[in-house]
Amino acid sequence: MRKINIIGSGFSSLSAACHLAKRGFQVEVFEKNSSLGGRARQFQKDGFTFDMGPSWYWMPDVFERFFAGFGKQVSDYYELERLDPGYQVVFGKDEVFPVHNSIEKIADRFELEEKGSGRKLVSFLNQAKRNYDVAIEDLVYKPGVSPLELITPVTIKNAGLFLTNVRKQVERDFKSPKLRSLLQFPVLFLGAKPEQTPAFYNFMNYADFGLGTWHPKGGMIQIVNAMVSLGKELGVSFHTDAPVHEIITNNKKATGIRVGDTIHHADIIISGADYHHTESLLQASLRGYSEAYWKKKVFAPSSLLFYVGIDKKLDNLAHHNLFFDVDFDKHASSIYDTPEWPKEPLFYVNLPSSSDQSMAPKGKEACFILIPIAPDLEDTQALRDKYYNIVLTRMEELTNQSIREHVLFNKSFCVLDFVNDYNSYKGNAYGMANTLTQTAFLRPKLKSKKVKDLYFTGQLTVPGPGVPPALISGNIVADMIAPN
Ligand SMILES: Cc1cc2nc3c(=O)[nH]c(=O)nc-3n(C[C@H](O)[C@H](O)[C@H](O)COP(=O)(O)OP(=O)(O)OC[C@H]3O[C@@H](n4cnc5c(N)ncnc54)[C@H](O)[C@@H]3O)c2cc1C
Repeated sequence: MRKINIIGSGFSSLSAACHLAKRGFQVEVFEKNSSLGGRARQFQKDGFTFDMGPSWYWMPDVFERFFAGFGKQVSDYYELERLDPGYQVVFGKDEVFPVHNSIEKIADRFELEEKGSGRKLVSFLNQAKRNYDVAIEDLVYKPGVSPLELITPVTIKNAGLFLTNVRKQVERDFKSPKLRSLLQFPVLFLGAKPEQTPAFYNFMNYADFGLGTWHPKGGMIQIVNAMVSLGKELGVSFHTDAPVHEIITNNKKATGIRVGDTIHHADIIISGADYHHTESLLQASLRGYSEAYWKKKVFAPSSLLFYVGIDKKLDNLAHHNLFFDVDFDKHASSIYDTPEWPKEPLFYVNLPSSSDQSMAPKGKEACFILIPIAPDLEDTQALRDKYYNIVLTRMEELTNQSIREHVLFNKSFCVLDFVNDYNSYKGNAYGMANTLTQTAFLRPKLKSKKVKDLYFTGQLTVPGPGVPPALISGNIVADMIAPN
């Protein structure tokens, strides 16, 4: 039986492991941390449970498609609930915009904000749905080896959508600053500014308003548990606390990995760890990309995160809350144009215990706060404390309640933790952005250019950042190694 060793246990690695075990390979996964799931680890304390990374469950069809590949369905592993509202946006004190669970309800709410915008939204989403269908059926499962992959009858017809950007398209149709922010928010998941993101990616708006925001009961770790359980059923072995220190090669062919003093031989190596880090496990002459290459790339933001246990239930907050009460462009500029700590940060508050009581003790709240920041920023305790205070003050003012005095504990996570815990390049939170020049065949390749039988998967390669793309990335690399 041919053997495959996989570095890392994020979603892309877990996906590749399951697909390749099903295709008859002996698969072993090596994870440096003590738990599986990569950036989707959980932090638990005193009965509170926090998803440490992803918390938005979007594109449920991609998860169903993954499990269907093994004759299973999502409901065999975890319970999913469509949230209503999917999320809310706080634009100011008493200015809250709920994004409900149907296009009709959202269009009605748009109409209140700007006359005629409800009808425009429906037509915008029809186009976004067409793009979504093309993306899922014809594009995102492609290996990113050739520009020809992007050429389909529909993309030829809509070539203009690759030449204009999300911002221009949204601003052409919608005048209200609130509606503009709402429609530009989903592309932030792709890691770049709306004006850097081709308008074709407006399919994320369909993912948002059309397909909705879901919650797996017990948190995002349920997806990890499901994939690990499936992997075990298929014969995959998992090793935790197993940091890979070197990729062993012989005559430019990968032959194994070294974990501490032990060499684990294999016919094929796949890495789902950060691409840049994986290449550092090779001798310099075998790396496919130079330091200069990585320096030029636009990375997705890093983040300052707080996992906060609160001793009461909070009012006026939904499961997902975006605080967009300050200037979106200024914050974006502090990430992409002149990297610096934002003067007035936008932030995101996740309150899973508002809809899932298993996430916190009765009468209490598990609260996760995220401020997106530029990768590689200075990260000190003083800065973390400063931003904790800024955010708590704004939350208290905007939601009309005292919070600070009800905090039982607060754990922070920032650039240095991303580097230490995940070997993340510059402490990026979710990989390399999907800009026009970093899309599809223009992203770092799944197959090593210099080392035979060495492959990459995950958010720095195709198709890009996010949990659904990570599942897809693992599927694509499996197809390259052993077509189904
Ligand atoms: C704060 C945050 C919020 C996010 N929010 C969302 C969201 O709401 N929805 C969404 O869809 N996506 C979200 N994302 C993005 C999503 O989580 C990621 O894109 C996805 O999980 C990446 O999976 P991956 O397999 O590419 O890599 P990772 O999850 O990073 O997995 C790589 C693994 O490799 C391990 N590793 C590194 N070096 C070594 C080594 N030498 N030896 C062994 N193991 C090693 C790491 O420890 C890690 O476990 C978020 C990410 C973050 C950080």
